[in-house]
Amino acid sequence: MHPATRAAIFRRLKAANPAPTTELLFGSPFELLVAVMLSAHTTDKSVNAATRELFPVANTPAAIVALGVEGVKPYIRPVGLYNTKSKNLVGLAQALIERHDGQVPGDRAALEALPGVGRKTASIILNMVFGEAEIAVDTHIFRVANRTGLAPGRTPREVEEALRRNTPPAYRKDAHHWLILHGRYVCTARAPKCPTCIIRDLCEFAHKTRPKPPQPAVRLRRAARRAFGPARRRRSRR
Ligand code: SF4
Repeated sequence: MHPATRAAIFRRLKAANPAPTTELLFGSPFELLVAVMLSAHTTDKSVNAATRELFPVANTPAAIVALGVEGVKPYIRPVGLYNTKSKNLVGLAQALIERHDGQVPGDRAALEALPGVGRKTASIILNMVFGEAEIAVDTHIFRVANRTGLAPGRTPREVEEALRRNTPPAYRKDAHHWLILHGRYVCTARAPKCPTCIIRDLCEFAHKTRPKPPQPAVRLRRAARRAFGPARRRRSRR
């Protein structure tokens, strides 16, 4: 893709949503870390449903450790994989207390050493809490980057590297949110909304969806209007 096209795509995404952000609910770096960790293989909506109940009861590492694995489980049952996620959550809280005075660390190696925290979660924390221009590649971004031609790659890491290399610096910090929201609501896995997509003319996807043909009743009404409409109007003027 030509760099000017890439810049134009981000220009339009920015114009449509100047201050993109996560749809996860959080009120502190620790809450964000917990929410992102819980969001693996599930929707933000189900994570928000769980944390709305959990955070009023326990939203610090010490409180999560005090709750323990069995105490955490009922809250995060809706997000799926709750046995593993409960263990990771309590392990994560314990590790933050032991290694980082209960604070969320600001470097990738320390983040990725925490239970349940992988590259994607670390990138989101570095971006949203520490203001670094990191781009976490999830399934939505992977799809949008490949379809559009913005940053083709066979693996999330390849896409991440391509986005890092090719995204104009002015757009790099927010690229993650623009692309994830575009993938979630417009460039969906099945039946992307190409006819109404704001970057349709810039996107290089060869199999864009077409506007739906009008329904038979609509077609009939239009045909009748074409055949009789002007005549009827002429009659009514007489
Ligand atoms: S035109 Fe279609 S394939 Fe391209 S970004 Fe938009 S929704 Fe996705």
